[in-house]
Amino acid sequence: MMKKIDEAVENFKRVDDIFKCPLCGREMKIIGKSLICENKHCFDISKQGYINFLTRSSNNDYDKEMLESRNIICKCGFFDPILKGVSDFISNKISSNNDPKYFILDAGCGEGSHLNKIINNLHEDTKREFNGIGIDISKDGIHIASREYEKQMWCVADLAKLPFMNNQFDFILNIFSPSNYLEFKRILKDKGSVIKVVPEGGYLKELRNAFYDGEDKRNYSNEKVVNHFIENFKIINRQRITYNFTLENQNIGHLIKMTPLSWSAGNEKIEKVLSMNINSFTVDVSIIEGSIY
Ligand SMILES: [Zn+2]
Repeated sequence: MMKKIDEAVENFKRVDDIFKCPLCGREMKIIGKSLICENKHCFDISKQGYINFLTRSSNNDYDKEMLESRNIICKCGFFDPILKGVSDFISNKISSNNDPKYFILDAGCGEGSHLNKIINNLHEDTKREFNGIGIDISKDGIHIASREYEKQMWCVADLAKLPFMNNQFDFILNIFSPSNYLEFKRILKDKGSVIKVVPEGGYLKELRNAFYDGEDKRNYSNEKVVNHFIENFKIINRQRITYNFTLENQNIGHLIKMTPLSWSAGNEKIEKVLSMNINSFTVDVSIIEGSIY
């Protein structure tokens, strides 16, 4: 079996001309087991197979346990109908052209499950080549992603300073994640699109009701987020997806742990919500596809 790092080196080598040095902006190449720019700034491929582009360590809201929980929830298929929706958007769009290969960036990929699933769907649906790259500022997230999904390429990087040349990506995915639309527009191809997934009002309403007492906190509106997207892109596609998902008992704690609803709650509150034995959850999101022109 090929070692993880060697497979990653091969993967990155195939696409190394899309990278841009985050320090000086010059072109980069894989030399040995590192990505090196024309000015010799060097970013090693880690033993686990990812590249860390951050020049200093970052603070972020994630923690390792939360990301492992999210990985477990993703693997039991909790988000599959959404991810099928996203991959259908992509296959529909590419069905009208003949390009043999596509570049897909998941901006804010967390522990990587969404990108991996979407690329797998696309390989089943079409005969084209897809290069999937996931970036996140969380090193813990990228660590899990490269541990679990060695077919895609994983990078620790800052959304505000993406290590890519201009006009490189056919699709940028932004799934329950923060965004930086200036950077997205810079690295998107002219005919490319950004596919954003945002929660709708019913999303995890069972947990929202359990965690929050007041009506205003129980109600969620994505209006601001969607308006900000509309200000930046021309909407070419939009679909709302709503379903119920029943989790096995041992996974309910993982769902609670992965959702931001619980992050500010104390242990006592979390125990109380767990003891309510809610096992069926509403998933309610919109998938919005936007283009530059
Ligand atoms: Zn450089």
